[in-house]
Amino acid sequence: DVTATKGNEFEDYFLKRELLMGIYEKGFERPSPIQEESIPIALTGSDILARAKNGTGKTAAFCIPALEKIDQDKNAIQVVILVPTRELALQTSQVCKELGKHLKIEVMVTTGGTSLKDDIIRLYQPVHLLVGTPGRILDLTKKGICILKECSMLIMDEADKLLSPEFQPSIEQLIRYLPSNRQILMFSATFPVTVKEFKDKYLPKPYVINLMDELTLKGITQFYAFVEERQKVHCLNTLFSKLQINQSIIFCNSVNRVELLAKKITELGYSCFYIHAKMLQDHRNRVFHDFHSVCMQEPYLFTRGIDIQAVNVVINFDFPKNAETYLHRVGRSGRFGHLGLAVNLITYEDRFNLYRIEQELGTEIKPIPPQIDRAIY
Ligand code: ADP
Ligand code: MG
Repeated sequence: DVTATKGNEFEDYFLKRELLMGIYEKGFERPSPIQEESIPIALTGSDILARAKNGTGKTAAFCIPALEKIDQDKNAIQVVILVPTRELALQTSQVCKELGKHLKIEVMVTTGGTSLKDDIIRLYQPVHLLVGTPGRILDLTKKGICILKECSMLIMDEADKLLSPEFQPSIEQLIRYLPSNRQILMFSATFPVTVKEFKDKYLPKPYVINLMDELTLKGITQFYAFVEERQKVHCLNTLFSKLQINQSIIFCNSVNRVELLAKKITELGYSCFYIHAKMLQDHRNRVFHDFHSVCMQEPYLFTRGIDIQAVNVVINFDFPKNAETYLHRVGRSGRFGHLGLAVNLITYEDRFNLYRIEQELGTEIKPIPPQIDRAIY
């Protein structure tokens, strides 16, 4: 979204002329907001924790400072970019090669699932920038084939995915091989707890960039009702008759339950449709206007179809397992600041989750009263 930028130009960052040429030849006219924030800060050597939506140009936001910082006359790996998949490694290296087209920077990709021997042979040649998955890079480093003592920049793209149990132990080991003046740049579209814990340990004072629309529970009154699993539909029917629903979103924890519930709601006589990840994209994008409720598993970004402003009630038919999901389901983008009601159906098994999520989000979810004032939603 170019309109949201500060109006900076790539020239403002005093980049190497060859790099600037690569940027313009790739068709980038001006930095995107995440690039405006991260490029100058990354060039100062500061750690960065950056969050921005998908498609906002995060790749170039770290590739540009990486390419700028590499001394091409020094035969050493100076930057490592960690990614969760081979596909992303290949894409990222492609971006580096294009942006660095006029530089003499050697980029190498190494990921699991390919010949280790080929990678070992390749590493006998100069490499300045290594892109790959954590396990393989650690493997090569432990063998003494990949030398990281000159690698002062570690980049973690899709950091939320990298901090899964599959990768995190390798990353922590890998960090021990980096020099003490290392700089870590983390990029992600979400900041789950794992990211926060990792940040506290390895980059305690990063420059934080957060370009997300913050979700907030402000203005949303949250209630819970204790129910048994088999009473849930009955309870929902009661809520439908007692509440003044403009439009509602109803969340279940599985695709199956979404489909089943939508059928039941239709049988109760309410116009309802459902939407979930296993539906085809164009089916998901169909335009719906007149409906009473929509059942879904996880929240979708509605570009069209549902007027989210018209939704005044959210019901967690199944209570979510963690605070992040709860916030995404119930929270609203702060900008709108309108009122809403959230009702959570809580079974015996959910009760600890209820208290935990309440605490984690610092919010209050109260028992549902017999009457709810229409003015609060
Ligand atoms: P993200 O990692 O945030 O999801 P990408 O880095 O994949 O986003 O970039 C998304 C798209 O935007 C890519 O096609 C990329 O080439 C393009 N892009 C990135 N930066 C710019 C820019 N400054 N000007 C124009 N297009 C850009
Ligand atoms: Mg990306």
